[in-house]
Amino acid sequence: MRFAYVNGRFCAHPDAAIHVEDRGFQFADAVYEVWSVRDGRLMDADGHFQRLSRSLAELRIPEPRSRPALERIIRELLRRNRVSNGLVYLQISRGQARRDHAFPKQAITPTIVLTCKRLDFAAADRRAETGIGVITVPDQRWARCDIKTVNLLPNVLAKQAAYEAGAAEAWQVDADGYVTEGSSTNAWIVTKAGKLLTRQADNGILHGITRARILDCAQRLGLEVEERAFTPAEALDAREAFLTSATSFVTPVVSIDGKTVANGAPGSLARALRETYLAEA
Ligand code: PMP
Repeated sequence: MRFAYVNGRFCAHPDAAIHVEDRGFQFADAVYEVWSVRDGRLMDADGHFQRLSRSLAELRIPEPRSRPALERIIRELLRRNRVSNGLVYLQISRGQARRDHAFPKQAITPTIVLTCKRLDFAAADRRAETGIGVITVPDQRWARCDIKTVNLLPNVLAKQAAYEAGAAEAWQVDADGYVTEGSSTNAWIVTKAGKLLTRQADNGILHGITRARILDCAQRLGLEVEERAFTPAEALDAREAFLTSATSFVTPVVSIDGKTVANGAPGSLARALRETYLAEA
């Protein structure tokens, strides 16, 4: 990409930088959001802006820009980079201050960084046609995974483990043996009885915006839905499994830890939900 936005200025992407004393860099004291952009439009814009406000409020970081101001910046960033299909990444940190764990005593200005990139949604469609494999890993994260912070090291290690195992995602499993979510996606199954399951939106998972939209779609399609945790064994015994996120929409999961789910082909409900979601997005 040619341009990024940092603290009020569009700058050449190779020169885009924040200070070494930024609290996002020092402590992961920062939140982020990601929107998919399709045909020049932000997908699920409201949901992502609302979650951004909530993440900031939970960490007591003041909102540095109004939503209309952020939207203007995002539109300009997409225009300058000529991106009409891809994603926008926004990070807001508490700001820059002399290194000390506690919040700075004097008010500081939050740091804002925006970047964007093109995505090949046709490739994502192809992935959805064949489905993907996941592995399971222990969930090693903190107790507030509902806040979308840049504190992503366990997620990074989980995704790397998946790639090294030839899989596309890692489903994290809590101390009680239940799947929480993927490293960057929410996890779903369809039971043999045809019930759609995804973990309740507690502090153990990110409250995915796509997750909420898919719950809506499912209700309108008349599917039976339950928000509760499931185990990897239940997932292996399921009729279908899939994952959701802003950039992957709905992607069928056809194997877990190398064992096939159902007949090893993407399920019909995952396909119907993907189509319904994309038709409305
Ligand atoms: N869980 C985690 C840990 C994530 O990072 C993401 C992606 N932001 C999701 C779930 C999916 O959330 P969304 O549908 O809002 O992209």
